[in-house]
Amino acid sequence: MLRATLILRPGADADRVRGDLVGKGLWVTPLDDGGQRRGFVVEPHSRQIPRYELEQLDGVECVLDAASPHPRVDRHPRAAEAGGRRIGLDAPFALMGGPCSVESPEQIEAAAARVADAGGTFLRGGAFKPRRSPYAFQGHGVEALRWLRDAADRHGLAVVTEALSEASTPPVAEIADVIQVGSRSMHAPALLGAVGRAGRPVLLKRGMAATVEEWLLAGEALLDHGAPAVVFCERGVRGFDPSTRNLLDLSAVALLSHVHGLPVVVDPSHAAGRRDLIEPLALAGRAAGASGVLVETHDTPSCARSDGPQALSPEEFSRLATSLGLPRGAPSGAAPERSTGAAP
Ligand code: PEP
Ligand code: MN
Repeated sequence: MLRATLILRPGADADRVRGDLVGKGLWVTPLDDGGQRRGFVVEPHSRQIPRYELEQLDGVECVLDAASPHPRVDRHPRAAEAGGRRIGLDAPFALMGGPCSVESPEQIEAAAARVADAGGTFLRGGAFKPRRSPYAFQGHGVEALRWLRDAADRHGLAVVTEALSEASTPPVAEIADVIQVGSRSMHAPALLGAVGRAGRPVLLKRGMAATVEEWLLAGEALLDHGAPAVVFCERGVRGFDPSTRNLLDLSAVALLSHVHGLPVVVDPSHAAGRRDLIEPLALAGRAAGASGVLVETHDTPSCARSDGPQALSPEEFSRLATSLGLPRGAPSGAAPERSTGAAP
C-alpha cells in the first residue's frame, strides 16, 4: 500500500491513533476534507505494512486506498521477462553491454563476443541515435538493426536498442527483445504509445529532468498501451556540477527497487560521462537495489562515433564483469526464444 487514508471512529482518540501509526513506522498527516471526517493520510515514504494491520488498530473505522495515478505500474511484477531472461528483484544480476552506436557489422560482432565472454546477457547498441547536434552521427538506421540482431544471435545474447520515433518503432520491435525509450523521449506520449503497442518489454530511461512520479507515469503509459513489462533505467539526471555528465540518482534506484518493488537497472555510462567512474557507480547502483547495469563499451573508445569518453575498453569491461562477480563465459547455444513479458 503506497498511499492510504484512515478514517477514525466517532469518539476515537486521534492522538493515540497517531502514536500507534508513528510507532509502526508510518508518516501521517491529519486528513483535511473540510472537517467532514477525522482521519490520517499515510504518506508514501512510510514503511510498507499490510492493510489489515491498519484496519485492526483501535479507533480506526476503515482504510481507504487513494486512487493511484499509475495502477498498472503498482501491480507490475518484481521482475520482467525479456528475451528469455528475467530482469528484476530475485533474478540474476543483468549485465547489458555494447557500444553507444552500432557502427559496423565487425564492430558489433566484437562487442557481442566481449559481452558474452564477460557473462553479459544483453547486447546494447543504437541504430537510431538521439544527438544534440544535427551534424553529429545519427546512426546507421535499419541496416544496423540487422547487424545487431545477427551478432547477438551468434553469441546467445538478447538485444536492447532504442526506438527514437514512431516510424522507427516497428523495425526496432522486429529485432529487439527489449525496446529502449531514451531519456529525451520519456516525455513523448506518441512514442510511448507506439512502443507500448509494439508489445515488447521496454527499458524506460528516466528523463534527465524527470521526477520519479513522471517516470512512473511514463511507465504507466507504456503498460496501458500494451507493453508486457517495463524495466526502469536510471541514467543520471541533470545536476548543477559539470564535473560529471549527469548525477546518478541512487535514491531513485533505492525507491523504485525497495519501496515500489519494480525492476530497475542503472546506466553509469550516461550518468558519469567518463569511463573511470563506471565501475564504482555500477557497484553503487547494485548496492542501492539495481537489478542490472547498462554499460557502454567499444573496441577503441577514442574512435567511437558517439560517447567515446564514457565507453569502457575491452579490458575495462572485462574487469567490470569480474568486480560484479558475474559467471564468465558465453551463454551456450542460440538465444532463447524471443517470447516476452512480465515474470510472475
Ligand atoms: C544511449 O543509451 O546511448 C542513450 C542515448 O541514452 P540516454 O537516452 O540515456 O541519453
Ligand atoms: Mn550513448
